[in-house]
Amino acid sequence: MPEIRKDYATPTWVVFSAARSQRPGAFRNLKDATPKESCPFCPGHEAMTPPEVLAYRDRGMPNGPGWSIRCVQNKFPALERGGEVREHRDGPFLSVDGVGAHEIIVESPDHDGHLATLDDRQVERVLRAYRERYHDLAADRRIKYVQIFKNHGERAGASFSHPHAQVIAIPIVPLRVLEEAEGMRAHAEQREGECLYCEILRRELALGRRVVAENRSFVALEPFAARSPFETWILPKVHARAFETLSDTSIRLCPRTPHPS
Ligand SMILES: [Zn+2]
Ligand SMILES: [Zn+2]
Repeated sequence: MPEIRKDYATPTWVVFSAARSQRPGAFRNLKDATPKESCPFCPGHEAMTPPEVLAYRDRGMPNGPGWSIRCVQNKFPALERGGEVREHRDGPFLSVDGVGAHEIIVESPDHDGHLATLDDRQVERVLRAYRERYHDLAADRRIKYVQIFKNHGERAGASFSHPHAQVIAIPIVPLRVLEEAEGMRAHAEQREGECLYCEILRRELALGRRVVAENRSFVALEPFAARSPFETWILPKVHARAFETLSDTSIRLCPRTPHPS
């Protein structure tokens, strides 16, 4: 069973999982992109992955070809689905069982596809799959936080070049998220309940300097205190409290409005 260990003094948690060290490319540099012949995410290779948790397909059988989106458990999961979250404390050493989920969302059957170049219909399916997995995992009472992320390129740690995202669900709330929630609460208290992100959106749209693009539903912008070059946020125009409440209308892509710079 993987474990999640707490830092001595701060509520910073780190996942320890032996399974992760067995994944392809761990502790070595992958020089070449995975060829299609050995890619576990390509159609026809479904037997190379654990069974699917979710799939969108017009034809074919579960765990066979014919899908447009396929979600499976990570073959080398950092967390395990079964069991209760037990706490283990021994003086300064505190840990909890690594109960949660670690999944892969294969975003296209096309090995050489890329989120940025997929057609709008497929991007809609990708977002629907994100929402569906988020919704399902968030309903599990043991899970306190869900994150969907992509490692882009080998230098970021991606083991496979086939377009995919990862879903991680953990039984604790990360420190940064706790701090963000606290900051939001403090802001609302000072400003008679106004939401911080709604204010940011209003101010940034009026200013226009850091807005990259916008459509009817979303604004993409560079945050005022970006931590790295090209850090970009996508904020919904409608005030919403959770990603999984995103409506179908919001997910449906509408023409992008380039922002005059
Ligand atoms: Zn592939
Ligand atoms: Zn808001």
